[in-house]
Amino acid sequence: MILPVYAYGCPILRKSGETVSIDNPRIKELISNMFETMYVAEGVGLAAQQVGEDLKIFVIDASPHAENHPETKDFKKVFINAKILEESGEELAYEEGCLSIPNIREDVVRKSKIRITYADENFVEHDETYDGMIARIIQHEYDHNQGIFFVDKINSLRKMLLKNKLNNIMKGAVDIRYKMKFPQMKKGR
Ligand code: ZN
Repeated sequence: MILPVYAYGCPILRKSGETVSIDNPRIKELISNMFETMYVAEGVGLAAQQVGEDLKIFVIDASPHAENHPETKDFKKVFINAKILEESGEELAYEEGCLSIPNIREDVVRKSKIRITYADENFVEHDETYDGMIARIIQHEYDHNQGIFFVDKINSLRKMLLKNKLNNIMKGAVDIRYKMKFPQMKKGR
C-alpha cells in the first residue's frame, strides 16, 4: 500500500524512533509499504518517521545511482534498530534532497565512512562498514530515525534563505507528483 509521505513540519518527523521489537506483528507490512511508497516517489531511501511511524526503521534501494556509483547496484536493504558506531574519513560536501522536503537540494557535509550495526527484515544482526554514496544515504536516513533533517546540517545563512520555501512546504504549497501529508493542510485539499 502506498502511504502519504509526511512533509517537513509534521511533528512525527522530529521524533526519535522507538526501538523495534522482534515480535511486532506490523513490521513486515510496514516495510513492504515503505518500499512501495519510496519507489512511487522515486526516492532511494525512506525512514519510518516519513510515513508517520516513530520507529527505528529505514529502507534503502540505492540502485538508481548505479551509473555513477557502481557499488550501489542491487543495494537494497532494510535497517532496523540501526546504530552508527563510528564515523570516520574525510568530511565531504554533497548535494542532498529529501522526499519530506520536496524541490530543495543543498550541500551537506558528512564524514565519508561509517560503521553501523542493525537488524535486517529477518532480525538477523549485522555489523558493517560503508563509504561513498551508500554511507551518505544511510547517514541521511539514520538521521530521520533520530528526528533530524539534512537542512538541520546546513549553515544558518543557507537555512535562512530557505525559510520561505520551507514555510511553503509546511502549507502544502508545493508541486509534487507523490502523495504527501502536510502539517497545515489548506482547506479544500
Ligand atoms: Zn530524507
